Amino acid sequence: MNTTFKSSHALWPLLVVFSSLAHADFSQQKALLIGLDGMQFEKLQDAIADGQATELGKFHLYKTYAGGIAGQSSEQPTLSGPGWSTLLTGAWADRHAVTGNDSNLRNQAVSLFKRISQSAPMRHTVSIVSWDTINDHFADDIAAGDVEMAVKCAGDDQCVLSRTLETLRSGSYDFIFVDIDQPDRAGHDLGFCTGYQDAIQTVDAQVQQIMAALDARLVTHPDENWLVMVVTDHGRKSPDGRDHGGQTLGEKTTFVGLNKLANEQLTTPITDPDNADFDGLYGYASQADIAPTILAHLGIEPDPAHYSIDGMPLIGPVGVRQLAANLDTSAYLITLRWRITTPSLQPIRIYRSGRLIATLSGSACEYIDHDLPKRVTALNYTVVMNGVPVSRWVKVTR
Ligand SMILES: [Zn+2]
Repeated sequence: MNTTFKSSHALWPLLVVFSSLAHADFSQQKALLIGLDGMQFEKLQDAIADGQATELGKFHLYKTYAGGIAGQSSEQPTLSGPGWSTLLTGAWADRHAVTGNDSNLRNQAVSLFKRISQSAPMRHTVSIVSWDTINDHFADDIAAGDVEMAVKCAGDDQCVLSRTLETLRSGSYDFIFVDIDQPDRAGHDLGFCTGYQDAIQTVDAQVQQIMAALDARLVTHPDENWLVMVVTDHGRKSPDGRDHGGQTLGEKTTFVGLNKLANEQLTTPITDPDNADFDGLYGYASQADIAPTILAHLGIEPDPAHYSIDGMPLIGPVGVRQLAANLDTSAYLITLRWRITTPSLQPIRIYRSGRLIATLSGSACEYIDHDLPKRVTALNYTVVMNGVPVSRWVKVTR
């Protein structure tokens, strides 16, 4: 798995950890991603405090952000199409190209479904959605067989619930994605009010049924190890919560809840991000971190040379954080900058569109690429630290 180790006694404990990982059996590792459309983090916290969301309150819940970085190529509307596409790819709209809610838009990034399905012949995935457009965005994966079971429930959350319970009872899947729509509908119809909190309570009861079905499954499948995450696709516009789509703090604020302990990318936000907009929201983890977290849990090893995920796993080792790639058009160079919060015992490696271009000391936090290839329109940079790659897509214009 790692070929860059030099024999040094200091590295032995780490070597043992990595070699045991390399031989670990991941066949019993499973993931369930429960999507709750348009649920505002602060309103969920209120519901938990009021005893209206006891099941969701059992998850390790943290703030995240949606909508990419405003003003940069990753910026995307805080709408469901782009949001779910990011959650299911680990990429922003500059890669997945789902820039709105049009059901004709097709995801252009490598999806979680595809990465999981193609990692091993016995791996299978499911997508059960209330908002049918999600399965339209991923129609190519469905047609290719990378989503083995794709269910459209046409806005009926009860259909989503019953199909999910049935799948957990008798299915044999490695990744189950579930989309529940009611919070978003309540938000559009009513705005933030008692009715919105009631929708959160209803959803909490549905999540409780899903978790009970999972507990029942574990009685007959005791070796399975499930990562369960609850997420939302976007926040809502203050103060009334009826609308969303723009770049405001309320609309960009999302959350993730895990049934497992997370790493510092999630638990310890950067308190002084270089981009301090939206009250420092960019110091938090993002929607793009969900897909790589699931891949890490399933033991699907990234190939750094061909990596194209903007996010970072929220479990396991931590790579470079706050990675930014900026093109200087006059000098024709690209500056990569990042933060390190976990020391690296290995060199940091930089890949540019499939090629290793630099190996830096484990404490480096900047790299300037003076040697940009001619006549390219875009470049993909990947920075690998602690075995964890993180990528950025850069549009190149002269
Ligand atoms: Zn909506």
